Amino acid sequence: MWKGYNRENYLQELDREFDVIVIGGGITGAGVLREASGMGLKTCLLEKRDFAWGTSSWSSKMVHGGLRYLKQGDIKLTLESVWERKRLLKEAPELIRPLDFLIPVYQEHASQRYLMQTGLFLYDLLALQWKHKTCSASNLLHKIPNLESRGLLQGISFQDALTDDSRLVMALLGQALGDGAIPLNYCSVEDVIHEKDRIAGVMALDRANNRYLDIRGRVIINATGVWADQVCQKAGGNIPLRPLRGSHFVVSSESLQVPCAVTFFHPEDKRPIFAFPWNGVTVVGTTDLDHAHDLNSPPGMSRREFEYLQEGIKQIFPKAEISEKNIISTFSGIRPVVKTNMRNPSKEPRKHVIQDYQGMVTVTGGKLTTFRLIARDALKTAQKYLGGLPGLKENPAVFKIPEFQVPPDTKLSGRDFDRLLGRYCTDTPSFLDQANPEELEFIENTNTLWAEIRWCLRNEAVNHLEDLLLRRTRLGLLLPRGGSSVLDPVLDICRQELGWDPEMTEREKEAYLKLWEDFYSPDFENRQA
Ligand SMILES: Cc1cc2nc3c(=O)[nH]c(=O)nc-3n(C[C@H](O)[C@H](O)[C@H](O)COP(=O)(O)OP(=O)(O)OC[C@H]3O[C@@H](n4cnc5c(N)ncnc54)[C@H](O)[C@@H]3O)c2cc1C
Repeated sequence: MWKGYNRENYLQELDREFDVIVIGGGITGAGVLREASGMGLKTCLLEKRDFAWGTSSWSSKMVHGGLRYLKQGDIKLTLESVWERKRLLKEAPELIRPLDFLIPVYQEHASQRYLMQTGLFLYDLLALQWKHKTCSASNLLHKIPNLESRGLLQGISFQDALTDDSRLVMALLGQALGDGAIPLNYCSVEDVIHEKDRIAGVMALDRANNRYLDIRGRVIINATGVWADQVCQKAGGNIPLRPLRGSHFVVSSESLQVPCAVTFFHPEDKRPIFAFPWNGVTVVGTTDLDHAHDLNSPPGMSRREFEYLQEGIKQIFPKAEISEKNIISTFSGIRPVVKTNMRNPSKEPRKHVIQDYQGMVTVTGGKLTTFRLIARDALKTAQKYLGGLPGLKENPAVFKIPEFQVPPDTKLSGRDFDRLLGRYCTDTPSFLDQANPEELEFIENTNTLWAEIRWCLRNEAVNHLEDLLLRRTRLGLLLPRGGSSVLDPVLDICRQELGWDPEMTEREKEAYLKLWEDFYSPDFENRQA
């Protein structure tokens, strides 16, 4: 539970010995923290920047089996993923929601349609469900009128699920907090403490107070994604990674209207790309290319990537208005993929790897969807430093979301409440208790309430304006120019809740707008290739 989170108080508690120290506050680290604290272990998590600052805010947000893994013959990964999807849909249905997918089949792919149907049959079979269907071209055009009709033979539909990735990370950390774990953002691990022939802790820098801390633990779990090798090397090990960038752009649903996810093969390289509805906008993705840039700077979409996705969309949605002028935002993430030297980046296996080096267990790679299994695998390796882990035999729910009655005297709809439950999970009743009634109003052109701004600032470890606008809420992605039209009232609430003086407020505003321009805007000048 995030209610009442107080970073300074938690910093005071770091002088004891932990059972598990987790490094990295993305989905993998949050998953490990959740599982370990649920097993009764004393745990803390140290994140160099903000929670979900790395790849876990910039994924395609699918909780999916991954048809591509099936195509590559990785039945085990697909099977695990579809069962995790099922589990998450049941445990947190407001945070992880079903998403219908449609594949329009054109004349040029006619020979592949039976292969696609067989693949989807197997996909459903693995999940013990029956969701895939075919529909005629006219039915498909009725559903998605802006689709290219020339050469359209039929549609094939199936079901996966969608989430908000950074909220998923926050939800896991919130559940771990409820079990006594300590997650800290803006705490970077700078070195490890060696003792005899093992690693006995870490030296971390509390970046908010510019203070070094020695933190002791029985086992260290390095869950730093694409940075895993850098951290591993501090301990004396290494793990060869191939950072692969994937980018998306966001447009208004008026520019590109899709009632569900639409997926199709890009004409240039036959990779599947997709457009899907998310929080009132349409997201288009993704690319997959080597990222040879400084990993300390956020990745950004290049002009070439934009043109590649634009060209793909134009094939299927010829009337869609997609140009640099009407893109709302762009975002990129870096896949932590273990290097096997495949020529084509998309062929590199996506399975996670685990390495144990003298008490530092490194876990990297894998997917958002399978965070629970990845976390349990890491803990299985870590258990020898903990004298066994009987908790691994049990499979408790990851999310314990309370039954919640919609208050009778509210102007919010049942759908709004579902959305709040998805975002604030266990904290939803506290959110409603704390909310000023006049702030239960939507921020213009969004489904975010003004009260959410205050809640996040007060309870969810926001240090900088970018934490609030890019990860706690996604206003920086959903509103034009990073939400500049609402910046002044948002900064007013920052001043009230975080005590920012006028100088600090101006500094935060400038830093955020520059960051947005450099990495999340559709301005591709001066971007990396
Ligand atoms: C474009 C794209 C689309 C994707 N789509 C999907 C999808 O739809 N579904 C799916 O299941 N998976 C998807 N994935 C995969 C998934 O997003 C990643 O596997 C996952 O987010 C990786 O999470 P992580 O926690 O391992 O790494 P990260 O999220 O990168 O977290 C690592 C964290 O470690 C921190 N860190 C680094 N160094 C230090 C240090 N010294 N001290 C403390 N902290 C440190 C970083 O700041 C970072 O926050 C996608 C990936 C990409 C790139």
